[in-house]
Amino acid sequence: MARKKLVMVGNGMAGVRALEELLRLAPDRYDITVFGAEPCGHYNRIMLSPVLANEMDIDEIFTHHPRWYEEQGITLYTSKVVTKIDRQRQCVIADDGTEAHYDRLLLALGSLPRVLPISGNTLDGVTTYREVRDVHHIMNAARKHRRAVVIGGGLLGLEAAYGLSRHGMEVTVVHLNECVLDRQLDGKASRLLQQYLKHQGIEFLLSRQVAALEGRDRVESVRFDSGEQISADLVVMAAGIHPRIALAKEAGLHCKQGIVVDDCLQTFDPKIYAVGECVQHRGQVYGLVAPLYEQARVCANHLAEIGISRYEGSVLSTSLKVTGISLFSAGDFKGDESTREIVFFDVADSVYKKLVVKDDRLIGALLYGETNDSRWYLDLIRSSRSIAAIRENMVFGRVFCESDEVSFQNMDTDPNHDSAQTSWQ
Ligand SMILES: Cc1cc2nc3c(=O)[nH]c(=O)nc-3n(C[C@H](O)[C@H](O)[C@H](O)COP(=O)(O)OP(=O)(O)OC[C@H]3O[C@@H](n4cnc5c(N)ncnc54)[C@H](O)[C@@H]3O)c2cc1C
Repeated sequence: MARKKLVMVGNGMAGVRALEELLRLAPDRYDITVFGAEPCGHYNRIMLSPVLANEMDIDEIFTHHPRWYEEQGITLYTSKVVTKIDRQRQCVIADDGTEAHYDRLLLALGSLPRVLPISGNTLDGVTTYREVRDVHHIMNAARKHRRAVVIGGGLLGLEAAYGLSRHGMEVTVVHLNECVLDRQLDGKASRLLQQYLKHQGIEFLLSRQVAALEGRDRVESVRFDSGEQISADLVVMAAGIHPRIALAKEAGLHCKQGIVVDDCLQTFDPKIYAVGECVQHRGQVYGLVAPLYEQARVCANHLAEIGISRYEGSVLSTSLKVTGISLFSAGDFKGDESTREIVFFDVADSVYKKLVVKDDRLIGALLYGETNDSRWYLDLIRSSRSIAAIRENMVFGRVFCESDEVSFQNMDTDPNHDSAQTSWQ
């Protein structure tokens, strides 16, 4: 059978995972061409944070060198940005004029970091945090300068702040809301986390709106809408992302917040598929790798023309890559009037666990300080099975629930948990 042509645009986490799955399922189905805007092979983007924190070397995060593509018979174009999809001629065109024809096109374009539309956002020393080149930029600045401000107290902002503090910089995290990581934690867990990070030397300015960045050529200060001002010679913007949809939109593909796909990851043009952060599926866009890997697996199945799997959405879970912190949240951990909460709080050891239950099903979990059972809670949430039989002990973890010898009463006298409170709320 003659090979078809597959072109993939975007050489990031979701795209490369889809390629790997496809090569496993149907290694000879396609002649594959990949366009990547970055000047390198493929790397594990989530490991940029350990690199920034000096816990890993940059070379360690490169997982697919150009040699790998060569060995798979894949044509890899690096430093080439695809600027046009010609759907009539079934080809893509890059910024340098390179063209590639396709029978199937896979868009895996990721997101663009949000740059705050404020004056001073193009000054030297102002950067986003998304790619290898951003990490080089930030690490160079950390060698020469002292005061860093990170805008955004989400996962990315806190990882950036931690990394910068490991370089000996004075770091202040500025966040719009009154709690950091407010999408992943509740107020109590957020305060525990903030306390820990303060001990690491990171300062916080919460409930603050940045009005402008000031300086001549290089940034010198951050001004808030209250008029308050703080000094800075490096500003890292970690204030959210936008799915990259411009290319698809210009080609007339249906886009909302992301490129709209069905359960097979097919766009409104049946020859074009899309995966990753650029995608909107059942109204949802994702910014974490686990759901993107699930999309990649299903998409590969369809590209391989097996066509039996469907992507139905993902239950999200989060953790933070800051040494010394164990943190996990998944599902609906905030709850509402229709849900019940099981809470365990060990003040002395800063261990906090909150489970949210609805109709005898676990629908959300938040763990701070001890996360050994995170996988188990995630499975309970995903499987949606009844937890009626283990509800009383569930907060103490899997081993406790599955052990016949240990009774609930024993736990109350456990010397390691003498300051623990467990309550239904
Ligand atoms: C520092 C950092 C830490 C993170 N940590 C975590 C974590 O711990 N856990 C987690 O779940 N998630 C984490 N994330 C998020 C995770 O990395 C993303 O969800 C994931 O990378 C998205 O994969 P993607 O393939 O959709 O996009 P990307 O990985 O961004 O890949 C898209 C690629 O497409 C390229 N591209 C875009 N447009 C074009 C074009 N027109 N032509 C050619 N190439 C193009 C881009 O340059 C990019 O290389 C982290 C992100 C960052 C930045």
